[in-house]
Formats: sequence, C-alpha cells, structure tokens
Amino acid sequence: MRIGIFGGTFDPVHDGHVNPVARAAERFGLARVIWIPARVSPLKGAPPTDARHRVAMVALAIDGRPDWVLSFDELDREPPSYTVDTLSALSARFLRDELWLLMGTDALAGLRMWKDPEEIVRLARIAAFHREPFVGQGLAIPEVAGLQNRLEVFDGGSFKISATDLRTDLARGGSPAGRVPGPVAEYITKHRLYRGVEG
Ligand code: ATP
Repeated sequence: MRIGIFGGTFDPVHDGHVNPVARAAERFGLARVIWIPARVSPLKGAPPTDARHRVAMVALAIDGRPDWVLSFDELDREPPSYTVDTLSALSARFLRDELWLLMGTDALAGLRMWKDPEEIVRLARIAAFHREPFVGQGLAIPEVAGLQNRLEVFDGGSFKISATDLRTDLARGGSPAGRVPGPVAEYITKHRLYRGVEG
C-alpha cells in the first residue's frame, strides 16, 4: 500500500497543511498518511511553541480521519530531525509498502540542502503541492540524482496561509478562525497560544 509521510513544525497546523494533504491522499491513493511533528527542524532552528501544544493541535486536525495518524518518531529522537533518518526508520517498519513524502514546493526547492537528498529520493517518492497559485512556469526542480523519476508535482489547492503569518496575526490579537480547522482554532483560543509572541 502507499503511505504518505508529512512532516513539519506545525506551529500551528493550518488549512494549508490539511487541505493539500487530503488532495494528495485522494489523488495518489494513499491508504494512510503519517503526520510527523518535528522536534527541531534542522533548517528552521527550535520551534517556538512547546511540542505538547503542536502535537495536540495536529491530533485535533486529523481527528475523524482514521487513515491519518500522528507519529512521535521525530519528537522521541534526539534533535535535529533529519527526514532521511525518519524515512529509514519507516522503510524498515513498512517493508512491503511504498512511501510517499509530501511537501510544499517551497520545501521541494530546498531539497538539496537537506541531509542526504539522494537517499531520501531512493526511500520515498515525492508528491509536492504548489503553495501559491500555479502559473505554469518557474518551478525549479532541484538537482538531486533520481528525483525526476520519483517526483509528482500537483495543485494542492493553493491556500495562502503560512504559520508565520498566522502567529504574527495572533500576536496582534487576530483570530485563527477560517485558517485552521475549527477544533484547532478553539484550542489556540483556549490556551491563549501565540498571544504577544511575534514571529
Ligand atoms: P512557516 O510559515 O512558519 O514556514 P509552514 O506552515 O510553512 O510554516 P511547516 O509546518 O514546517 O511550516 O510546513 C510543513 C509543510 O507544509 C512544508 O512542506 C510546507 O511546504 C507545507 N506548507 C505549509 N503551508 C502551506 C500552504 N499554505 N500550502 C501548501 N503547503 C504548505
């Protein structure tokens, strides 16, 4: 079976994550999607919000989708969280399955900076969704050996939402409603997350 892998800092998880992943699952027939919150992203540094909250929000966002599961693999491992290590562990666990790594095209563009990108591409096929409306040009595919044959780029629906913008708005007293799943919005409000913390 095909298993989707979707990692991120999810600080917070938002509709720009949930909706493209739902489209990917349908389009590529992913029987399961494993959501993997990062402990410390090697490229972004320490995420500002406690993992306990980020995990709780992902759990709320995927609730009601029995085919989506939450993984603690990266949170349980010593940082930094390298995707290649996560994929190695998963491929040993799911020997008969095909792994599909899901990401936005902004993440794809930086793939060469990740640890061991060739091994990543060997371990998983990659499905990348456009983050901005796709205008039919200008997507630079990084030069990673083997990538061309293992890559699918598709329209994930283009949700112009970023966690950074969300945090900035919330710090200024804005509401998360309409940009995150309803239960996640309630969680953010209840726990007063991102209040007065810009960036
Ligand atoms: P920030 O804005 O702080 O960088 P982010 O939401 O981009 O936050 P992550 O939670 O690490 O950061 O993102 C996880 C994955 O989701 C990445 O592959 C990223 O490309 C993708 N992604 C994030 N936002 C969108 C969006 N609006 N549309 C499509 N993909 C997105």
